[in-house]
This record gives sequence, C-alpha cells and structure tokens, in this order.
Amino acid sequence: MLRVIGCVVQKHDLGLVATALLVCILAALTSVRLLARGASSQTGLPTAWVAAAAVTFSCGVWTTHFLGMLAFVPGLPFTFSLSLCALSLAFIALPSRIAFGLWIDRPRSWSMAIIAGLSINAGIVMTHFAGMRSLRLPAVIHYDLVPIVVSLILGALLCIAAIRMLDRTHTVPAALLLTLAVSSVHFIAMGAVKLEPVAGTDVIPMSIAKSTLAILTVGGCLLILAVALAGFRLDRLMSTRLAAEARRFRALADATVEGLIVERAGLIIDINRAMCRLMGVEADKLVGKAVATVISGGVSLHPSSFDRAMEHELMLPDGGSRSVEVLWRNGPDPHGHVLAVRDISREKAAQLQIQRMAHFDQLTGVANRQLLEKTLQKALALSDRATVGIALLCIDLDRFKAINDALGPSVGDQVLVLTARRLSGVVRDTDTVARIGSDEFAVVQPLAGQPANAAALAERIVAELGLPYEIDGQTIMIGGSVGVALYPADGTTTLDLMTKAMLALNRAKREGRNTWRYCEPGMDSRLRDRRALERDLRVAVAKRQLYLAYQPFYDALTLRVAGYEALLRWNHPLRGNVSPAEFIPIAEESGLIVPIGQFVLETACAEAASWSRPLVIAVNLSPAQLAQGRIVATVDAVLHDSGLDPSLLELEITEGVLMDDTEQALTTLMALKERGVTLAMDDFGTGYSSLSYLKKFPFDKLKIDRSFVRDLDDNANGEPIVAAIIALSRSLRLEVTAEGVETPRQLALLRAERCAFIQGFLLGRPMLANQIDRHGIEAPMAVAELVETAGLETALTPLGR
Ligand code: C2E
Ligand code: CA
Ligand code: CA
Repeated sequence: MLRVIGCVVQKHDLGLVATALLVCILAALTSVRLLARGASSQTGLPTAWVAAAAVTFSCGVWTTHFLGMLAFVPGLPFTFSLSLCALSLAFIALPSRIAFGLWIDRPRSWSMAIIAGLSINAGIVMTHFAGMRSLRLPAVIHYDLVPIVVSLILGALLCIAAIRMLDRTHTVPAALLLTLAVSSVHFIAMGAVKLEPVAGTDVIPMSIAKSTLAILTVGGCLLILAVALAGFRLDRLMSTRLAAEARRFRALADATVEGLIVERAGLIIDINRAMCRLMGVEADKLVGKAVATVISGGVSLHPSSFDRAMEHELMLPDGGSRSVEVLWRNGPDPHGHVLAVRDISREKAAQLQIQRMAHFDQLTGVANRQLLEKTLQKALALSDRATVGIALLCIDLDRFKAINDALGPSVGDQVLVLTARRLSGVVRDTDTVARIGSDEFAVVQPLAGQPANAAALAERIVAELGLPYEIDGQTIMIGGSVGVALYPADGTTTLDLMTKAMLALNRAKREGRNTWRYCEPGMDSRLRDRRALERDLRVAVAKRQLYLAYQPFYDALTLRVAGYEALLRWNHPLRGNVSPAEFIPIAEESGLIVPIGQFVLETACAEAASWSRPLVIAVNLSPAQLAQGRIVATVDAVLHDSGLDPSLLELEITEGVLMDDTEQALTTLMALKERGVTLAMDDFGTGYSSLSYLKKFPFDKLKIDRSFVRDLDDNANGEPIVAAIIALSRSLRLEVTAEGVETPRQLALLRAERCAFIQGFLLGRPMLANQIDRHGIEAPMAVAELVETAGLETALTPLGR
C-alpha cells in the first residue's frame, strides 16, 4: 500500500493522475447510465445501448491508462509502440462489450455478476499490460509478483461488486466501483514495476512520441465527453418522455370506468381511481396487499383463463362484498398482470329480481305455476317409486268470484294474500305452495306415508280455508275445495298428476264444496273413512270405547292354561266392533298407538295381577312403541304400579319391527330383558324370518304364525315346515307357541312335534276379563273328546319334554 502511494506521489505527475481519475469516473458513470437505460427500455434496441456503453467504458479505461502512463515520471526518456497502443484499446473493448451484453440479457444473479465482473477485470488487466508492453524506453521492466496478484484479485472483486450494484440500479456506486477497479489495477501494477536501465536502446521504430499520445488521450477524453453529453441528453429526453407516458397511462387508467389492478407475484402494485371507488378506500390502503385478500377465490392467472371474464366477489374493507367480473391481461412488466374489475352487483340484483318475477306470484309471494311444475318435476325425478310418495293437491276457493264481484278487487286481493299465508301455514317446510290461477292454488307434498299424509293435509286445508276471513272490519266466509292426485298411483308425469288433481278438485266442487276428494272414487271414500276412524280413535280411550279381550294359550303337554294374550277391542258407537286389524294400523300411523299401547299394558298387567293363580299375561307391542324410546320406562312404571311379577309379563313383538333400527331395537330389548320380562317374536314366518335376527336379539319365545298352522291341514309341505321351525327353535333354546290352532289334527301334529304352547279357537277364544275365572285353567273336556274321535289318541299320551 505504502509502495503504491509512494510510487504515485514520487513517480507521477499528480495533475495528470487527477485528470485520469476524472476521465475514468466520467466514462464509468456514462456507460453505467447508458446500460441502465438500455435495461429499462421497452421499445429501443438493448444492443445499441450496450454498444454505446462498451465504447464509452473502453475509451475511458484506455484513456485513463494512457494518461496514467503520461503521468509516469520514471526518470528515463520513453515513447510508445503504435500497434500495441491500438491493440490495448481492443483488449478492453471486447470483454466489456461481452460483459455488458451478458448483464442486459441474463437474469440478475451472483453467477452472472461473477462472470461479467471477471470479464471486465480481464479487459482492464490486459489493457494495462498491453500498455506496459507498448512502452519504449532504455530499460528492462521487472515486475514484483505479489502486488500484481493483489491488483488482479482486488480488481476482480471491485468489478463484481460494481455489477451487483448495477443489478440494483445503484448507478453512482457502480460507476465509482468500476473507477476504483481501473485505478487500483493500474496504480498497484505500476507500484510493482522496477526499471533496470540498459544503454543504447533509446530510438525505437514505429513508435509514437509522448506528445502524440497526449493528443490521442485528449481525443479520447473529448470522445467520452461527447458520448457522455449525448447520453445524458438522451437519458433526460427519455426520462421526461417516460414520465409523460406514465402520466398519460395513469390519466387513461383513472379515466376508465372499470377498476384496474396492476399485479406482480400476487401483490397489488397499483390500482386506478375506479378501483378505489369500488373498494371505498384510497390506493395506498391497497397497494402492497395480496390480490387474494381483495378478490375472493383467487384469480386464476393460468393462460387458459386469459381474456376470459370470471365472476368473483370483491371483499370490501367494511366486511361486505360485491359481485364483480374480473378479466386479466399481461402487464407492462413481464412478471406482472393487469386485472380489469367490473362491478356487476346491479346486474346480479336485476337478474335475481327477474328470476323472482319468473318464479313467484307477484301478489301473494308464493311460487307460480312454472315453479310448481319445476318442483314437481324435480320431485318426480328424485323419487323412488318404492319408498317415496308424492301428492299434488289442487285448491280452489269456493266463493271467491262472488266476493270479488260484491266487495271489489282490493278485498279480493287481500283474500288471496291471506289464503296463500294460510296455506303456507299448514304445509311442512318440504312442501311447495303455489298460486296457479286467479283463485286456484296447489301444493306439492313430497312425503312418504301416502295416501294418509295427503289426506291429512287436504283435511287441514279444508278446515283452514273454512275459517272466517277478517278483512277491513268485515267477516267473510269463503271456504275451499281440494283435489288430490298421488304419484305413482294416478300418474307418473307432471301433466298426468295435474290433470288428475283437477279432476278430483272438480269432483269435490260438484259434491258440495268445502271438502276434498281423491281422484278415484273408491279410494277416496276409503281414505275418508280412514280419516274418520282416526278422528274417532283419538277420543276412543277417553270415552272408554277400548277394552281388552284375553285369549288363553295352553301348555301343549298338559293342555292346561299357561297364560292369556291381551287383545285390544274397540266398541265403536256407530260401527260396533271394529277389528284391530283395521284400527291398529291407523293408530300406528297417527302415533295414537303410544297412548293406546300404554292403556293396554296398564289394563292387562293390572288384570293379571288380580288373578288368583300366577298365569302369564302376553301383551302385543307395536313398532311405533319400540321406536318411540319410552317403552322401557313405561314397562317399569306399569310393573311397579300393578305389582305384577316381571316374569309373568310376556311382550310380543312382530318380527318386522326389528329391521328398522337394529341397534336401537337391540338396546331396548336388552333393557326389557334385564327387567326379567319374557320376549316373544310374534308372527314368525311372515316377515324376513332372518335367522341372524333370531340369534342377535334376546328372544325367549317364538310364535309360529297362523298361516303355517293352517297349512298343517291343507298342504303337504305344512308339516315339514312346522317341524323345521320347531327344531330350529329348540337348537336356539327358544320355546314355541303355535297360534291359530283350530282343528284336533293340527293340535295332534303340533304335540307330536313337541311344540311347547298351543293357542287357537280350538282350545279357547278371546274372552272378557270377567269370563277368565269361569274358564279356569283346564282345557275344555270337549277337546279331549275331539282328539280321540279324530283317531289321534296317541297324541294325548304324555310325551315327556
Ligand atoms: P296377533 O298378535 O297375531 O293376535 C292373534 C290374532 O289371531 C287375534 O286377532 C286373535 O283373535 C286371532 N286368533 C287367535 N286364535 C285364532 C284362531 O284359531 N283362528 C283365527 N282365525 N284367528 C285366531 P285380533 O284380536 O283380531 O288381533 C289382530 C292383530 O291385531 C293381532 O295379531 C295383533 O297384531 C294386533 N293387536 C291386537 N291387540 C293389540 C294390542 O293391544 N297392541 C298391538 N300393538 N297390537 C294388537
Ligand atoms: Ca300377538
Ligand atoms: Ca300373531
């Protein structure tokens, strides 16, 4: 270091050194600015900028070098070799052109900076040593190796650093670093020079004098100055043009109605005024934020969505949102995009309004005919004939025309509005109410359990419309008629169902109005009958019309009474005795079976508890009672209240019940079983007869259905089937009761198969509670006689189970 400083101070003309440094700074600054401008130019040729920068920089380096040489005062006379002088200019021109070209084309990276930096440094070094070789003086030049290596390394590092600075468009530091590189290579190398004088070599051919070189270098300086001036002028011009262009672009962007977002790498770089208005905030609140925080769902910038408007939600700062259409294009910078954002919230609202108008009745707000048909069509498409029923109800106001004519259309409108409201009030959420004519309405009821549910709804509608309307202080009676059509019974298309429902409606109007009709006469009287029966059943318990009959069942071996099965009876005030086969299903569907079942349990258990002998009481349980979930508590309460020994209570459950909800059924049965109650599977053979159910559920007993017992008499297969069921039950440790035993032959065969219990008209019919004591426990003697006369006397000999 000291040697370098010493060399500069002692062996150089300091004025010229300062000039050299100034030239170098000027050249470096100019070339760097030219390069930076070339990089940001969008239209011009980058190569032209690179060439200009390379020329300036090379001239600068060369001039600096030779001014440095001119400033050198070695104490000996010297001249320069012309060819080497020229060559040394080429040595710097080529590498700097390559380095600048690389820099402008390639992505900015460390590896690129190292390659470019090393290339420039190589140029500087070659220029320096070519210049040294061009020295003609009466001495031999020796170099000190260490400073040379140091100058090489330092120069390389400075050049690389300069390129990195240029990457960040720090032009002034880049220029200073380049100047430092050039001067350090030159002056450190000069400090490493040792001259050994040699006599007689002072005149050299093809050389130029110092004065000529001075002129040349001054020429170089002037050239740099000219290029610099031209460059800066051009730069100024370009800058102002670019700024004007940017202002124009901004004005244009602000003038557009659409919101514009300039995006780069998912971030908002800029937005226009329309966008600010859309968002309701200033630009600076949005710039720098992720696009995804403003536009919902993220804008797909995949080329496939290029130029295609996509619908999005704009997320407003106040938490609200707004429907927009977003379209993107490539942006001015290659890594960014411009998103055009159009507010379509008004269009959306209008669309919704149009849709409402197309699908809903303006006056009443319920669906119109189109929507009703669509809904019905959808329900039909979705329905599975086996499980789902769909009902269509058409409704007509009975006295609408008269009221409308007498009281005016305004009252008429209010009647319609109130009617729509009443209808909406009586349907379920899944039903659709529609107005399909001036005073005609319709309901689609997509619900299982038809026709019962449609009948119930029709009845509710007739009742509701039969209530008086209070309008403008007047009480008006209107009434309505209803026609019902069912899918799939009456039709499988919208048109079929509509036609049938209208036919039914006309029938309802013909047959007295203020009523409802099903389209098929037989069906609707049956349905109405059923509805009437359901109504009557509701009050039957309270009116004490329900009572129990008790049918005995016998030990097959001894033919002594083992217990009684409680069977429900209904003494209807008008119809007389109604069969449980008729009213139990109605009670089950309407849910009435729960209170009725409780009545049966309470009555039967109380009755059994009063018997002097401990006989079993069998009570039938309905599926609805099991599903309802309270049966265990009910049984507990009944056992407690009656004081009946749980082992004397037998619950008969129909096989089919268990299919519905296996897990719940299992837990319920287990809980009942824990109470010590006996569980019997009723009507075995009529349901799925799944063996796995028999194994899975904790049954103690199985009742062979009457139909199998009947087959014992008139079917050759009867016997083996009954025998198989009994054998199977034995293997599963289940006792067997045969029900519906009507003949001595059936009795004898069942005894031969070792069936445990016998029930049927042969031995005992259902009887009233007060007949039980008289009936006693022995089988009637007549039975034994019958068995004998049938020639089956062996059947009565004890079989010894
Ligand atoms: P189930 O449980 O199979 O009851 C036996 C039915 O067969 C009774 O009819 C009984 O009178 C009849 N029966 C008994 N022996 C003979 C016979 O030898 N020949 C013929 N032809 N029939 C015989 P019922 O009383 O009409 O009951 C019918 C069904 O109603 C019962 O069938 C049962 O499923 C149901 N049920 C009756 N009472 C109740 C009850 O309190 N609750 C529930 N959930 N269902 C009941
Ligand atoms: Ca039964
Ligand atoms: Ca049965």
